[in-house]
Amino acid sequence: MVMYSPGKTTSYPDEPVANGLRYHFLGGGSEVGNVGIIIEGYKGDRLLIDYGLAPTDPPRYPDEAPKVTDAIITHSHIDHIGMVPWLSGAHRSNLHATPITVSLSELMWNDCHKVSRIEGYPLPWDKRDMDNALDSWKIHDFGEWVKHGNWQWRLHSAGHIPGAAMVEIDTDDLKVLISGDFDTRDSPLVSGAEAVDVDVLFVEGTYGGRNHPDKVQETERFLDKVREVVDRGGTALIPSFANGRGQDVLMTLHAAMPNLNVHYDGMGKTITKHHLENPDYLRDPKALEAAFKWAKRVSSKSDKKKALESDVIVTTSGMLNGGPSIWYLNRLRHESNNAILFMGYQASGSGGRQFQEEGRLPIFGNLTPVDLEWDTFDFSTHAGHDEIVKFAKQCGAKDVVVYHTDPDNARPPLVKALEENGHHVHQPKNGESHILQ
Ligand SMILES: [Zn+2]
Ligand SMILES: [Zn+2]
Repeated sequence: MVMYSPGKTTSYPDEPVANGLRYHFLGGGSEVGNVGIIIEGYKGDRLLIDYGLAPTDPPRYPDEAPKVTDAIITHSHIDHIGMVPWLSGAHRSNLHATPITVSLSELMWNDCHKVSRIEGYPLPWDKRDMDNALDSWKIHDFGEWVKHGNWQWRLHSAGHIPGAAMVEIDTDDLKVLISGDFDTRDSPLVSGAEAVDVDVLFVEGTYGGRNHPDKVQETERFLDKVREVVDRGGTALIPSFANGRGQDVLMTLHAAMPNLNVHYDGMGKTITKHHLENPDYLRDPKALEAAFKWAKRVSSKSDKKKALESDVIVTTSGMLNGGPSIWYLNRLRHESNNAILFMGYQASGSGGRQFQEEGRLPIFGNLTPVDLEWDTFDFSTHAGHDEIVKFAKQCGAKDVVVYHTDPDNARPPLVKALEENGHHVHQPKNGESHILQ
Protein backbone atom coordinates (compact mmCIF):
# COMPACT_ATOMS: atom_id res chain seq x y z
CA MET A 1 0.00 0.00 0.00
CA VAL A 2 1.38 3.43 -0.90
CA MET A 3 0.44 5.84 1.82
CA TYR A 4 1.83 9.03 0.36
CA SER A 5 1.08 10.50 -2.97
CA PRO A 6 4.17 12.66 -3.39
CA GLY A 7 3.35 16.35 -3.73
CA LYS A 8 -0.34 15.79 -3.04
CA THR A 9 -0.57 14.65 0.56
CA THR A 10 1.74 17.08 2.33
CA SER A 11 0.39 19.50 4.91
CA TYR A 12 3.19 21.94 4.04
CA PRO A 13 2.01 25.24 2.53
CA ASP A 14 2.91 26.22 -1.06
CA GLU A 15 3.41 29.95 -0.38
CA PRO A 16 6.96 31.19 0.16
CA VAL A 17 7.82 32.73 3.53
CA ALA A 18 7.23 36.51 3.35
CA ASN A 19 9.25 37.38 6.44
CA GLY A 20 10.65 35.76 9.59
CA LEU A 21 11.25 32.05 10.00
CA ARG A 22 8.56 29.47 9.39
CA TYR A 23 8.41 26.21 11.33
CA HIS A 24 6.07 23.37 10.46
CA PHE A 25 5.66 20.04 12.21
CA LEU A 26 4.99 17.15 9.84
CA GLY A 27 4.89 15.03 12.98
CA GLY A 28 6.05 15.07 16.58
CA GLY A 29 4.54 18.50 17.32
CA SER A 30 2.03 17.25 19.84
CA GLU A 31 3.01 13.62 20.34
CA VAL A 32 6.07 11.67 21.43
CA GLY A 33 8.11 10.42 18.47
CA ASN A 34 7.07 10.45 14.81
CA VAL A 35 9.21 13.57 14.36
CA GLY A 36 9.55 15.69 11.21
CA ILE A 37 10.24 19.43 11.45
CA ILE A 38 10.58 21.81 8.50
CA ILE A 39 12.11 25.23 9.02
CA GLU A 40 12.20 27.75 6.18
CA GLY A 41 13.46 31.33 5.96
CA TYR A 42 12.29 34.32 3.90
CA LYS A 43 15.28 33.93 1.57
CA GLY A 44 14.05 30.48 0.61
CA ASP A 45 16.41 28.31 2.63
CA ARG A 46 14.73 25.19 3.99
CA LEU A 47 15.83 22.25 6.16
CA LEU A 48 14.11 19.14 7.45
CA ILE A 49 15.12 17.97 10.91
CA ASP A 50 14.42 14.27 11.58
CA TYR A 51 11.96 12.04 9.77
CA GLY A 52 10.81 9.21 11.98
CA LEU A 53 7.77 7.15 12.72
CA ALA A 54 6.04 6.04 15.91
CA PRO A 55 6.35 2.28 16.39
CA THR A 56 2.84 2.03 17.82
CA ASP A 57 0.28 -0.62 16.83
CA PRO A 58 -0.34 0.27 14.01
CA PRO A 59 2.62 2.67 13.46
CA ARG A 60 2.07 6.39 12.94
CA TYR A 61 3.88 8.26 10.18
CA PRO A 62 4.55 12.00 9.84
CA ASP A 63 2.90 13.96 7.02
CA GLU A 64 4.58 13.77 3.64
CA ALA A 65 7.70 15.95 3.54
CA PRO A 66 7.80 18.68 0.89
CA LYS A 67 10.86 18.76 -1.38
CA VAL A 68 14.01 19.23 0.70
CA THR A 69 17.57 19.23 -0.60
CA ASP A 70 18.94 18.51 2.87
CA ALA A 71 17.75 16.73 6.00
CA ILE A 72 19.56 16.56 9.33
CA ILE A 73 18.91 13.47 11.45
CA THR A 74 19.52 13.94 15.18
CA HIS A 75 19.91 10.27 16.17
CA SER A 76 19.30 6.66 15.27
CA HIS A 77 16.12 5.94 17.26
CA ILE A 78 13.33 4.83 14.97
CA ASP A 79 11.02 7.71 15.97
CA HIS A 80 13.59 10.10 14.42
CA ILE A 81 15.12 8.09 11.56
CA GLY A 82 12.47 5.55 10.52
CA MET A 83 11.06 7.41 7.49
CA VAL A 84 14.36 8.74 6.10
CA PRO A 85 14.55 6.18 3.25
CA TRP A 86 11.31 7.67 1.89
CA LEU A 87 13.10 11.04 1.54
CA SER A 88 15.76 9.43 -0.60
CA GLY A 89 13.25 7.67 -2.78
CA ALA A 90 11.07 10.74 -3.30
CA HIS A 91 13.43 13.73 -3.10
CA ARG A 92 16.98 12.39 -3.30
CA SER A 93 17.74 14.58 -0.29
CA ASN A 94 21.23 14.83 1.16
CA LEU A 95 21.20 13.30 4.64
CA HIS A 96 23.37 14.62 7.46
CA ALA A 97 24.25 12.98 10.79
CA THR A 98 27.06 11.98 13.14
CA PRO A 99 29.22 8.90 12.39
CA ILE A 100 27.38 6.63 14.88
CA THR A 101 23.95 7.60 13.59
CA VAL A 102 25.10 6.86 10.05
CA SER A 103 26.71 3.56 11.00
CA LEU A 104 23.57 2.40 12.86
CA SER A 105 21.10 3.55 10.21
CA GLU A 106 21.19 0.39 8.08
CA LEU A 107 20.59 -1.81 11.11
CA MET A 108 17.68 0.33 12.32
CA TRP A 109 16.06 0.46 8.87
CA ASN A 110 16.48 -3.27 8.31
CA ASP A 111 14.85 -3.93 11.65
CA CYS A 112 12.02 -1.52 10.85
CA HIS A 113 11.51 -3.24 7.49
CA LYS A 114 11.52 -6.68 9.10
CA VAL A 115 9.03 -5.69 11.80
CA SER A 116 6.66 -4.16 9.24
CA ARG A 117 6.75 -7.40 7.25
CA ILE A 118 6.22 -9.64 10.27
CA GLU A 119 3.42 -7.48 11.67
CA GLY A 120 1.89 -6.95 8.24
CA TYR A 121 2.12 -3.14 8.36
CA PRO A 122 2.58 -1.13 5.20
CA LEU A 123 5.81 0.88 5.08
CA PRO A 124 5.98 3.82 2.65
CA TRP A 125 9.53 2.91 1.57
CA ASP A 126 11.26 -0.17 0.23
CA LYS A 127 14.75 -1.68 0.19
CA ARG A 128 15.75 0.28 -2.90
CA ASP A 129 14.91 3.56 -1.12
CA MET A 130 17.00 2.30 1.78
CA ASP A 131 19.99 1.68 -0.48
CA ASN A 132 19.63 5.20 -1.91
CA ALA A 133 19.49 6.59 1.62
CA LEU A 134 22.66 4.74 2.59
CA ASP A 135 24.39 6.39 -0.38
CA SER A 136 23.10 9.85 0.60
CA TRP A 137 24.73 10.21 4.01
CA LYS A 138 27.10 13.08 4.74
CA ILE A 139 28.95 12.55 8.02
CA HIS A 140 29.61 15.39 10.48
CA ASP A 141 31.38 15.57 13.81
CA PHE A 142 30.11 17.75 16.63
CA GLY A 143 31.08 21.41 16.22
CA GLU A 144 31.74 21.31 12.45
CA TRP A 145 29.99 24.24 10.70
CA VAL A 146 28.13 23.34 7.50
CA LYS A 147 26.97 25.92 4.92
CA HIS A 148 23.38 25.69 3.72
CA GLY A 149 22.50 28.54 1.31
CA ASN A 150 22.38 31.72 3.41
CA TRP A 151 22.43 29.66 6.61
CA GLN A 152 25.00 27.61 8.47
CA TRP A 153 24.48 24.87 11.02
CA ARG A 154 26.42 22.53 13.29
CA LEU A 155 25.76 19.61 15.63
CA HIS A 156 26.26 19.47 19.40
CA SER A 157 26.21 16.45 21.70
CA ALA A 158 22.69 15.84 23.03
CA GLY A 159 23.56 13.23 25.68
CA HIS A 160 20.71 10.67 25.34
CA ILE A 161 22.54 7.95 23.31
CA PRO A 162 25.93 7.80 21.56
CA GLY A 163 26.00 10.11 18.54
CA ALA A 164 22.73 11.86 19.44
CA ALA A 165 22.91 15.48 18.29
CA MET A 166 21.26 18.81 18.89
CA VAL A 167 21.19 21.05 15.80
CA GLU A 168 22.26 24.70 16.02
CA ILE A 169 21.22 26.73 12.96
CA ASP A 170 22.21 30.31 12.14
CA THR A 171 19.24 31.31 10.01
CA ASP A 172 18.81 34.72 8.35
CA ASP A 173 18.06 36.65 11.53
CA LEU A 174 17.53 34.08 14.27
CA LYS A 175 19.81 31.58 15.96
CA VAL A 176 17.96 28.31 16.53
CA LEU A 177 18.67 25.16 18.54
CA ILE A 178 16.70 21.96 18.01
CA SER A 179 17.28 19.58 20.92
CA GLY A 180 16.28 16.25 19.38
CA ASP A 181 16.04 13.78 22.27
CA PHE A 182 18.40 15.13 24.89
CA ASP A 183 19.54 14.85 28.48
CA THR A 184 21.77 17.19 30.44
CA ARG A 185 22.61 14.44 32.94
CA ASP A 186 25.49 12.02 32.36
CA SER A 187 24.68 8.36 31.70
CA PRO A 188 27.20 5.49 31.67
CA LEU A 189 27.37 5.76 27.86
CA VAL A 190 27.39 9.51 27.23
CA SER A 191 28.01 12.84 28.95
CA GLY A 192 25.12 15.26 29.36
CA ALA A 193 24.24 17.97 26.83
CA GLU A 194 25.37 21.55 27.36
CA ALA A 195 23.37 24.70 26.67
CA VAL A 196 23.91 26.76 23.49
CA ASP A 197 23.19 30.52 23.32
CA VAL A 198 20.24 30.96 20.93
CA ASP A 199 17.14 33.05 20.18
CA VAL A 200 14.82 30.10 19.61
CA LEU A 201 14.91 26.70 21.31
CA PHE A 202 12.93 23.73 20.03
CA VAL A 203 12.94 21.39 23.02
CA GLU A 204 11.63 17.86 23.54
CA GLY A 205 9.09 17.73 26.38
CA THR A 206 8.81 13.98 26.95
CA TYR A 207 9.24 14.43 30.70
CA GLY A 208 7.30 17.68 31.14
CA GLY A 209 5.74 17.71 34.61
CA ARG A 210 7.84 14.76 35.77
CA ASN A 211 11.19 14.68 37.49
CA HIS A 212 13.58 11.75 37.58
CA PRO A 213 14.61 10.24 40.90
CA ASP A 214 18.17 10.89 42.03
CA LYS A 215 20.40 8.86 39.71
CA VAL A 216 22.71 7.47 42.40
CA GLN A 217 19.82 6.37 44.63
CA GLU A 218 17.89 4.83 41.73
CA THR A 219 20.97 2.88 40.63
CA GLU A 220 21.39 1.58 44.21
CA ARG A 221 17.74 0.54 44.36
CA PHE A 222 18.20 -1.35 41.08
CA LEU A 223 21.38 -3.09 42.23
CA ASP A 224 19.73 -4.05 45.55
CA LYS A 225 16.88 -5.69 43.68
CA VAL A 226 19.27 -7.62 41.42
CA ARG A 227 21.15 -8.80 44.51
CA GLU A 228 17.91 -9.91 46.18
CA VAL A 229 16.80 -11.96 43.15
CA VAL A 230 20.22 -13.57 42.72
CA ASP A 231 20.53 -14.36 46.47
CA ARG A 232 17.29 -16.31 46.38
CA GLY A 233 18.55 -18.33 43.42
CA GLY A 234 16.50 -16.58 40.77
CA THR A 235 17.26 -15.03 37.40
CA ALA A 236 16.49 -11.35 36.76
CA LEU A 237 15.15 -10.78 33.26
CA ILE A 238 15.93 -7.19 32.21
CA PRO A 239 14.10 -6.24 29.01
CA SER A 240 16.02 -3.24 27.58
CA PHE A 241 16.09 -1.29 24.35
CA ALA A 242 18.91 -2.32 22.05
CA ASN A 243 20.17 1.19 21.29
CA GLY A 244 21.38 2.86 24.50
CA ARG A 245 19.51 1.41 27.46
CA GLY A 246 20.91 -2.14 27.30
CA GLN A 247 24.50 -0.85 27.27
CA ASP A 248 23.77 1.47 30.23
CA VAL A 249 22.42 -1.53 32.17
CA LEU A 250 25.44 -3.72 31.35
CA MET A 251 27.89 -0.98 32.34
CA THR A 252 26.03 -0.36 35.61
CA LEU A 253 26.04 -4.07 36.52
CA HIS A 254 29.67 -4.56 35.53
CA ALA A 255 30.89 -1.59 37.55
CA ALA A 256 29.04 -2.60 40.73
CA MET A 257 28.82 -6.40 40.67
CA PRO A 258 31.62 -7.86 38.55
CA ASN A 259 31.02 -11.36 39.96
CA LEU A 260 27.55 -11.63 38.45
CA ASN A 261 26.86 -14.06 35.63
CA VAL A 262 25.19 -11.83 33.03
CA HIS A 263 23.96 -12.88 29.58
CA TYR A 264 23.32 -10.37 26.80
CA ASP A 265 21.06 -11.18 23.86
CA GLY A 266 19.33 -9.34 20.99
CA MET A 267 20.22 -6.61 18.52
CA GLY A 268 22.09 -4.66 21.22
CA LYS A 269 25.11 -6.92 20.71
CA THR A 270 25.62 -5.59 17.17
CA ILE A 271 24.80 -2.02 18.19
CA THR A 272 27.46 -2.15 20.91
CA LYS A 273 30.07 -3.07 18.27
CA HIS A 274 29.10 0.06 16.32
CA HIS A 275 29.44 2.12 19.52
CA LEU A 276 32.90 0.71 20.17
CA GLU A 277 34.00 1.57 16.63
CA ASN A 278 33.28 5.24 17.46
CA PRO A 279 35.03 5.69 20.81
CA ASP A 280 35.10 9.51 20.51
CA TYR A 281 31.33 9.49 20.96
CA LEU A 282 31.41 7.56 24.23
CA ARG A 283 31.95 8.93 27.73
CA ASP A 284 34.14 5.98 28.72
CA PRO A 285 34.84 3.61 25.82
CA LYS A 286 37.10 1.38 27.94
CA ALA A 287 34.31 0.82 30.46
CA LEU A 288 31.85 -0.10 27.69
CA GLU A 289 34.36 -2.46 26.12
CA ALA A 290 35.06 -4.13 29.46
CA ALA A 291 31.35 -4.56 30.21
CA PHE A 292 30.71 -5.91 26.72
CA LYS A 293 33.53 -8.46 27.00
CA TRP A 294 32.41 -9.44 30.48
CA ALA A 295 28.80 -10.15 29.55
CA LYS A 296 28.23 -13.53 27.92
CA ARG A 297 26.88 -12.82 24.47
CA VAL A 298 24.13 -15.22 23.46
CA SER A 299 24.42 -16.39 19.87
CA SER A 300 22.96 -19.90 19.72
CA LYS A 301 20.08 -21.94 21.08
CA SER A 302 22.40 -23.69 23.53
CA ASP A 303 23.67 -20.28 24.74
CA LYS A 304 20.03 -19.34 25.33
CA LYS A 305 19.49 -22.40 27.49
CA LYS A 306 22.64 -21.62 29.49
CA ALA A 307 21.37 -18.08 30.01
CA LEU A 308 18.30 -19.49 31.78
CA GLU A 309 20.64 -20.65 34.56
CA SER A 310 22.43 -17.29 34.90
CA ASP A 311 21.92 -14.41 37.34
CA VAL A 312 20.80 -11.75 34.86
CA ILE A 313 19.60 -11.68 31.25
CA VAL A 314 19.69 -8.31 29.44
CA THR A 315 17.82 -8.41 26.15
CA THR A 316 15.30 -6.92 23.73
CA SER A 317 12.48 -6.15 23.29
CA GLY A 318 12.54 -3.51 26.02
CA MET A 319 8.76 -3.56 26.35
CA LEU A 320 8.18 -7.32 26.04
CA ASN A 321 6.86 -7.02 22.49
CA GLY A 322 8.34 -10.20 21.09
CA GLY A 323 12.08 -10.76 20.58
CA PRO A 324 14.32 -12.85 22.84
CA SER A 325 12.83 -11.30 26.00
CA ILE A 326 9.59 -13.19 25.31
CA TRP A 327 11.43 -16.47 24.69
CA TYR A 328 13.18 -16.09 28.06
CA LEU A 329 10.05 -14.99 29.87
CA ASN A 330 8.22 -18.07 28.59
CA ARG A 331 10.86 -20.27 30.25
CA LEU A 332 11.41 -18.20 33.38
CA ARG A 333 7.74 -17.69 34.23
CA HIS A 334 7.37 -21.07 35.97
CA GLU A 335 9.87 -20.36 38.79
CA SER A 336 8.67 -17.80 41.31
CA ASN A 337 12.20 -16.85 42.44
CA ASN A 338 12.74 -15.21 39.03
CA ALA A 339 11.84 -11.55 38.41
CA ILE A 340 11.32 -9.03 35.63
CA LEU A 341 13.11 -5.71 36.06
CA PHE A 342 11.85 -3.01 33.69
CA MET A 343 14.33 -0.22 32.98
CA GLY A 344 11.78 2.38 31.98
CA TYR A 345 8.24 3.28 31.23
CA GLN A 346 6.16 0.65 29.38
CA ALA A 347 4.06 2.27 26.63
CA SER A 348 0.34 1.59 26.49
CA GLY A 349 -0.36 -1.29 24.13
CA SER A 350 2.98 -2.98 24.91
CA GLY A 351 3.32 -6.47 26.36
CA GLY A 352 5.13 -4.98 29.34
CA ARG A 353 2.26 -2.62 30.15
CA GLN A 354 -0.33 -5.38 29.83
CA PHE A 355 1.70 -7.59 32.17
CA GLN A 356 2.01 -4.77 34.71
CA GLU A 357 -1.73 -4.04 34.61
CA GLU A 358 -3.28 -7.48 34.12
CA GLY A 359 -0.61 -10.02 35.09
CA ARG A 360 -0.70 -11.51 31.62
CA LEU A 361 0.65 -10.79 28.15
CA PRO A 362 0.89 -12.30 24.67
CA ILE A 363 3.56 -15.02 24.48
CA PHE A 364 3.90 -16.48 20.99
CA GLY A 365 0.36 -15.37 20.20
CA ASN A 366 -1.29 -16.72 23.38
CA LEU A 367 -2.42 -14.42 26.15
CA THR A 368 -0.51 -16.03 29.03
CA PRO A 369 -0.73 -15.35 32.77
CA VAL A 370 2.68 -14.61 34.32
CA ASP A 371 3.03 -14.57 38.09
CA LEU A 372 6.49 -13.14 38.66
CA GLU A 373 7.80 -10.36 40.87
CA TRP A 374 8.52 -7.21 38.88
CA ASP A 375 9.76 -3.70 39.43
CA THR A 376 10.42 -0.63 37.29
CA PHE A 377 13.54 1.52 37.44
CA ASP A 378 14.09 4.92 35.88
CA PHE A 379 17.13 4.68 33.59
CA SER A 380 15.71 7.27 31.19
CA THR A 381 18.11 9.42 29.18
CA HIS A 382 15.58 12.15 28.43
CA ALA A 383 15.88 15.39 30.41
CA GLY A 384 13.33 15.59 33.25
CA HIS A 385 11.08 18.60 33.87
CA ASP A 386 13.60 20.58 35.96
CA GLU A 387 16.46 19.85 33.54
CA ILE A 388 14.40 21.10 30.58
CA VAL A 389 13.45 24.35 32.36
CA LYS A 390 17.04 24.98 33.44
CA PHE A 391 18.39 24.20 29.97
CA ALA A 392 16.00 26.69 28.30
CA LYS A 393 17.11 29.36 30.74
CA GLN A 394 20.80 28.63 30.14
CA CYS A 395 20.25 28.82 26.37
CA GLY A 396 18.80 32.30 26.92
CA ALA A 397 16.06 31.51 24.39
CA LYS A 398 13.41 34.20 23.84
CA ASP A 399 11.11 31.68 22.14
CA VAL A 400 10.75 28.05 23.23
CA VAL A 401 8.89 25.53 21.07
CA VAL A 402 7.88 22.45 23.11
CA TYR A 403 7.52 19.34 20.95
CA HIS A 404 7.99 15.53 21.21
CA THR A 405 5.55 15.59 24.12
CA ASP A 406 2.19 14.43 25.35
CA PRO A 407 0.04 17.55 24.82
CA ASP A 408 -2.46 16.76 27.58
CA ASN A 409 -0.32 15.76 30.54
CA ALA A 410 3.36 16.54 29.97
CA ARG A 411 3.23 19.82 28.05
CA PRO A 412 0.94 22.03 30.19
CA PRO A 413 3.11 21.99 33.36
CA LEU A 414 6.22 22.55 31.23
CA VAL A 415 4.66 25.50 29.39
CA LYS A 416 3.68 27.04 32.71
CA ALA A 417 7.19 26.71 34.16
CA LEU A 418 8.81 28.08 31.00
CA GLU A 419 6.42 31.05 30.83
CA GLU A 420 7.13 31.85 34.48
CA ASN A 421 10.79 32.15 33.46
CA GLY A 422 9.86 34.74 30.83
CA HIS A 423 10.11 32.61 27.68
CA HIS A 424 7.58 33.03 24.89
CA VAL A 425 6.35 29.44 24.63
CA HIS A 426 4.93 27.74 21.52
CA GLN A 427 2.80 24.59 21.50
CA PRO A 428 3.00 23.30 17.94
CA LYS A 429 0.38 21.09 16.34
CA ASN A 430 1.12 18.62 13.57
CA GLY A 431 0.34 19.94 10.12
CA GLU A 432 0.30 23.62 11.13
CA SER A 433 2.82 26.35 10.28
CA HIS A 434 3.94 29.22 12.44
CA ILE A 435 6.17 32.24 11.75
CA LEU A 436 8.86 33.25 14.24
CA GLN A 437 9.96 36.91 14.06
ZN1 LIG B 1 12.38 10.43 20.42
ZN1 LIG C 1 15.73 8.85 21.17
